Order: sequence, then C-alpha cells, then structure tokens
Amino acid sequence: MSQEFDVVVIGAGPGGYIAAIRAAQLGFKTACIDAFKGSDGQPALGGTCLNVGCIPSKALLQSSEHFHAVKHSFAEHGINVKSPSFDAAQMIARKDGIVQKLTSGVAFLFKKNKVTSLHGLGSLKGRDNEKWQIEVRDGGKVVDTVSASHVIIATGSRPRPLPGVEIDNQTVLDNTGALAMTSTPKRLGVIGAGVIGLEMGSVWARVGSQVTILEALPTFLGAADSQIAREALRTLTKDTGLTIHTGVKIGSVKVGKTVTLEYEKDGKAETLTVDKLIVAVGRVPNTDGLGGEAVNLQMDERGFVVVDDSCHTNLPNVWAIGDVVRGPMLAHKAMEEGVAVAERIAGQKPHVDFGSIPWVIYTSPEIAWVGKTEDQLKKEGVAYKKGTAPFAPNGRALGMGQAQGTVKILADAETDRILGMHVIGPMASELITEGVLSLEFKAASEDIARIVHAHPSLSEAVHEAALACDKRALHG
Ligand code: FAD
Ligand code: NAD
Repeated sequence: MSQEFDVVVIGAGPGGYIAAIRAAQLGFKTACIDAFKGSDGQPALGGTCLNVGCIPSKALLQSSEHFHAVKHSFAEHGINVKSPSFDAAQMIARKDGIVQKLTSGVAFLFKKNKVTSLHGLGSLKGRDNEKWQIEVRDGGKVVDTVSASHVIIATGSRPRPLPGVEIDNQTVLDNTGALAMTSTPKRLGVIGAGVIGLEMGSVWARVGSQVTILEALPTFLGAADSQIAREALRTLTKDTGLTIHTGVKIGSVKVGKTVTLEYEKDGKAETLTVDKLIVAVGRVPNTDGLGGEAVNLQMDERGFVVVDDSCHTNLPNVWAIGDVVRGPMLAHKAMEEGVAVAERIAGQKPHVDFGSIPWVIYTSPEIAWVGKTEDQLKKEGVAYKKGTAPFAPNGRALGMGQAQGTVKILADAETDRILGMHVIGPMASELITEGVLSLEFKAASEDIARIVHAHPSLSEAVHEAALACDKRALHG
C-alpha cells in the first residue's frame, strides 16, 4: 500500500535534508528518500557533504594544520615538542566521529520535524490523479512505494571519471578514498588543481607526503581573482610544500603497487611515480536510478536536470535543487535552493541571489571570494576602484602567527557600491560574510569604512581594504 505525502524529497544531502525540514516546518506531510550507505554498509543521511565532502575534509584539514603548526610554528611561541609523531589512523577515526555525529544529527532533526526517512534509491514512476508515484529500491528490491503532490529532486553529484583511469579507492582514489587513508603515502599524486585537489593535497602534504598536483589548464585557480590566485600559488608551493604543474596533458596512467603517470608539459614528455593517486577533475550530476527518462524529465547535454529560476523542472510540481542542477556545486547553494523551493510550494515568494554566493577554499591560508573578480569587471567594461590591505600589519593576525595574505575590495568607480570582495588569509571563510552582506545590502565601500570593527581583529583588514578604496588606509 503506497504511503501518501504532500512533499517527497529524493536525496538527503544538504539540499534535500534542508528542503525536507523546511517543508515539514511549513506544515507539509514530508518524506525524504536517500540511498547513501557509509563505509560500514549502514544508511547515513547528509549526502556527499556530510559523509564524503565538506565536513570530513575540513576535519582532516584541521588535524593536518595542527600537526604542521606543532612542527613548524610552536617553537616561536616557546613551546618545544620533541619529535612529534603523526597517526593517520587516529586522524581518520576523529573525522569519522564528527561525520557520525552530524549524520545522526540529521536523523534526529528528521524525527523532531516529523519527516519520514526512507532508505533506498528513489525512482519516479509516473503521475496519477495529480500525485507522483515514486518507488524505493534497496539491493534491487522494491522496499516502498510512495506518492506525493510535489517532488524535490536533490540527488547531488558524483566524481567525474577520467577516461582510462579506474578508481579502486586503494591506490587510485576519488574523494571517498582520499578522506579515508589510514597511513600517509610517501609520494602522493593528484590530478586536478581544483578545490578538492588543493584541499586534499594540503592535508597530506602537511602530514608528510610529497605531493605533486597535475592540472590541465594553463592558469592556476582560474575562477579566483588573478591577484589572489598568484598569491595562493606562491604560499601553497612555498609554505604548504605542494608541487603544482599547470598546463599538463595526462597520457597513460599505469597502476601496480605504485602509479606511474606519463604526461606532457611545455611539449616535453614527463613521468611521475607515486604511491597513491587522487583524481579530482570535477563532478557530474547524479541522476542514476532516478527514472527521469521514463517520465520525460528534461536534462541537458551534460546530464544536469533543467530548471527555471525558481528550480522548477519541465514536469508539473517536480522541482530540482543542488548539485544536480546548474550553478556552483556548493552545499550552501544547495541548502538555500532547498529552503526556497519548500517556501515556493507553500505559496511564498523566496529568492536566492546567485550573485552573492561565497566561495571558500580551506587551504592554509584560506581563500574566499564573493561577487566579481577584477578580470570580470575589466571584461565587462565596468569602471571600478580597488582597495587592498595586507594582513602583515594586522595585530590579531600577527598574534595568531598567521599574518599572511590580503583583503581586496572592488567597488564601482562612480557609485562606490561594492562589487566584489576577495580574501586570502586567516579565517577568510568567516571574513567573507562581510562581503556577502555588503553585496546583499548593496553597501558602498564607504559604509564598510565607517563601520566600527573590533580591535584587534582580522576584520580590521576588511576595514582597511574599504578605506583603501578611497586611498585613505590608515596602516597601509
Ligand atoms: P549531495 O550532497 O550529493 O547529496 C545527494 C544525496 O542523494 C546522496 O546521499 C545520494 O546518495 C542521494 N541519491 C542520489 N540519487 C538518489 C536516488 N535516486 N534516490 C535516493 N537517493 C539518491 N561544498 C561546500 O559548500 N563547502 C565545502 O567545504 C565543500 N567541500 C567539499 C569537499 C569534497 C571532498 C567534496 C566532494 C565536495 C565538497 N563540497 C563542498 C561540495 C558539496 O559537498 C556539494 O555541493 C553538496 O553536497 C551538494 O548537495 P546536494 O544536496 O545537492 O547533493
Ligand atoms: P574543480 O572543478 O574545482 O577542479 C577540477 C580541476 O581539474 C580543474 O582545475 C580542471 O581544470 C582540472 N582537470 C579537469 N580535467 C583534467 C585532466 N584531464 N587533467 C588534469 N586536470 C584536469 O573540481 P573538484 O576539485 O573535483 O571539486 C568538485 C566540486 O566540488 C568543486 O567545483 C566545488 O564545487 C565542490 N567543492 C567545494 C569545496 C569548497 O567549497 N571548499 C571543496 C571541495 C569541493
């Protein structure tokens, strides 16, 4: 007997679980179907983000940063630790504990909000009497059938495969394997100097691996502001110890006990032998098992579910959010779309501003940005002014021993309205929120320049950058 719901969400990643909670808060009878199983074979809510993405990667980044600090910067504080050792298995166990806490937290929130949680692969079967029929399969067997007035597809993404390179998650790893290594590889190769490559490369370099990253594009971090990207390349190679080759063409990848890659750089044939290889060349939308073709769900040539500005698909009352649709593959973007869709179903008029979604790369120093880069403004012919402030004279950053990096604010030359903010430096992930607020509230650089910022604080560098937009920085 089919259970009836007002809203069924397919996928319990950050997009799906948040959409389900918000729909339930708004009074809808809601179910969320999710297929993910953890390494112990048990269902785990939270999708890529909580299980094998944002959260575990940040846990490892923190552990590796501590180890790096013990080895390289404790002595300057007068703390002498003789021969610190590193236990990768303990780092992974700590990470697993954090993941477990958060995934069970989602189960708790589902119970609290009366969201019915169903485990299995959800497939759209058709629409009858204005109700969508959805089948839930686990291990090939149908375990449930449900019907719903509204369906929210939140099936996320999976790693983009690299032709000719098979992931076994023992020697050749995707994000799942890269987050689960219980010993430090002596030599680690990474294909792709994107967000995952840089974050995972940083983790393992800081705990002793010799890390080489091979990137196809000639430009390093092309999506970031080029001044910030240049500074990032310098510190990541000099301080973190990453070796990064851009403009590389990967040839053969031979896997045995080690991995040997043949590649071409500047027209020259090169070889790299490593003990483990991480492949991080982007992600593709996940619509496997969803049954989209059977109900004529429109997908584009790259497999993304096609949606309009309000996340509605071509099918009546079928919505799609997060990594499976256009836009940046970021957890906070997925969550905001989830909230917005639930509220739209309730007849409200929410809005997600794609122009003010922040990006953060959690390397050390962190890199974060929101809005336009200088290159984009030049290309668009927008007259702008810029203010930059280094962390070098910032008292708080010096106290933390992290006085590296820059804040850069870009503002319209005529109106002074802030168009972009770019940070490389300590806690850039937190500082960027001031840029997000500025964009959302259409603040001028003078607004930020006239706001009192706590002293001593890292945010004083944001204040200085705003002052610098009108050439009146006080410490520059
Ligand atoms: P997902 O989180 O992918 O969840 C989709 C869920 O749907 C999964 O559980 C999947 O098993 C399930 N599913 C798929 N098909 C079906 C089906 N037919 N039936 C039932 N269930 C199904 N983003 C950030 O913003 N910050 C970060 O720091 C960050 N770090 C990352 C680090 C790594 C290593 C990776 C890989 C990603 C990271 N991301 C980060 C990206 C972030 O994880 C994604 O943008 C986010 O998880 C997308 O959320 P989602 O809900 O769309 O999909
Ligand atoms: P990415 O798009 O960030 O980077 C992939 C890189 O691989 C690119 O630089 C690309 O040019 C390169 N590449 C592609 N094909 C190649 C080839 N054949 N040889 C060498 N290089 C090649 O993708 P990712 O690092 O896999 O991460 C996927 C997505 O997950 C990110 O785009 C982001 O949306 C999300 N993510 C976010 C965070 C964060 O917010 N901190 C962290 C990790 C992942």
